[in-house]
Amino acid sequence: MPITNRIAEFHDDMTAWRRDIHANPELGFEEYRTSDLVAGKLGEFGITVHRGLAGTGVVGTLQGRASSDRAIALRADMDALPMPEANQFDYASRVPGKMHGCGHDGHTAMLLGAARYLAETRNFAGTVHFVFQPAEEGGGGGKVMVDQGLFSLFPADEVYGLHNMPGLPFGSFSGRAGPMMAATDRIDIEITGKGGHAAYPHRTIDPVVIGAQLVTALQTIASRTTDPLESVVVSITQFHAGSADNVIAETARLGGTIRTFNPVLRRSVEAQIRALSSGIAAAFGATVEITWRPGYPPTVNHAAQIDKAFGVAQSLVGDSQTLRDTPPMMAGEDFAYMLEAKPGAYLCLGAGPIDNGQALHQVNYDFNDALLPIGASYWAQLVETLLPRDSAGQ
Ligand SMILES: [Zn+2]
Ligand SMILES: [Zn+2]
Repeated sequence: MPITNRIAEFHDDMTAWRRDIHANPELGFEEYRTSDLVAGKLGEFGITVHRGLAGTGVVGTLQGRASSDRAIALRADMDALPMPEANQFDYASRVPGKMHGCGHDGHTAMLLGAARYLAETRNFAGTVHFVFQPAEEGGGGGKVMVDQGLFSLFPADEVYGLHNMPGLPFGSFSGRAGPMMAATDRIDIEITGKGGHAAYPHRTIDPVVIGAQLVTALQTIASRTTDPLESVVVSITQFHAGSADNVIAETARLGGTIRTFNPVLRRSVEAQIRALSSGIAAAFGATVEITWRPGYPPTVNHAAQIDKAFGVAQSLVGDSQTLRDTPPMMAGEDFAYMLEAKPGAYLCLGAGPIDNGQALHQVNYDFNDALLPIGASYWAQLVETLLPRDSAGQ
């Protein structure tokens, strides 16, 4: 099944929606305009609209022509990033310091395109829920929607997600069963020593020296205590201390991010960070306060659902563009919470080669509009394949 003709016919409309959203980026939980736009379009298409989950979340519900108890949920994200945009085109961000640098503008437009087509044709049996979530970029909007009853208000047997990915072959679908994206925890370590005159270090307990030892020691979690066949990232990305060249600081603060796939390893890394931090601080006579900030859990695809998703991708773009069993990524994704609640699958849609550094989260990134009919066709064909009319009980 190639690109759905009817969807290709409104490629220009999807491009216009996408560029409108791109020009007016909104950060997590503040997607008021975007949410209005999405709800307005769904309403125009004749789809029942629910608003208010996680604040700006929107859910559109559509019944097929045939009745069935089966239901699936399709999810897109709507938020932009707090970063400047370097692009000069006419639909570049009109809001300084905010940018659609991850392509959620495109994800929203693709799902709207599928919704329009499915509302016109309704060539399926059962129910599809179009879920537009706020705050994917760190705010956990997907978790808030689930916690506020997403799947009790909108019961679904399965849930699916899709993310564009520069650097992967254009129009390809990729992913894997099992862990696909990492857990994204954060750590804060506050070391308290004893400040004083830098010319008399023996009268102080220098938290900078202790922090330096600790940064080095924390690297041994990945290199010495974790099975080399497992994956872990321990990145200390912040080190703040001091106010003058001739003053030894009283405190130093380290911050960083921890990425894992394996829940057992995730707990063990936290325990190791606590042990190394308190042990090293104690050895130097300092104290330490450790704050572990749990982030998104790992995004784990369910085997049966990823098979179905790949089956649809394969009929859409062919064998060579269906990249099964690709390596997992150390980035995180709050679709993880939906996959904890329901069986489902998350795939990446290749956006083509990266020219001039146009990767996700870069100042000159832009969603590739040529993907819009491919993504929308994938969504539409997923619904028609998973909720077939011929198996309906009527
Ligand atoms: Zn992102
Ligand atoms: Zn993203």
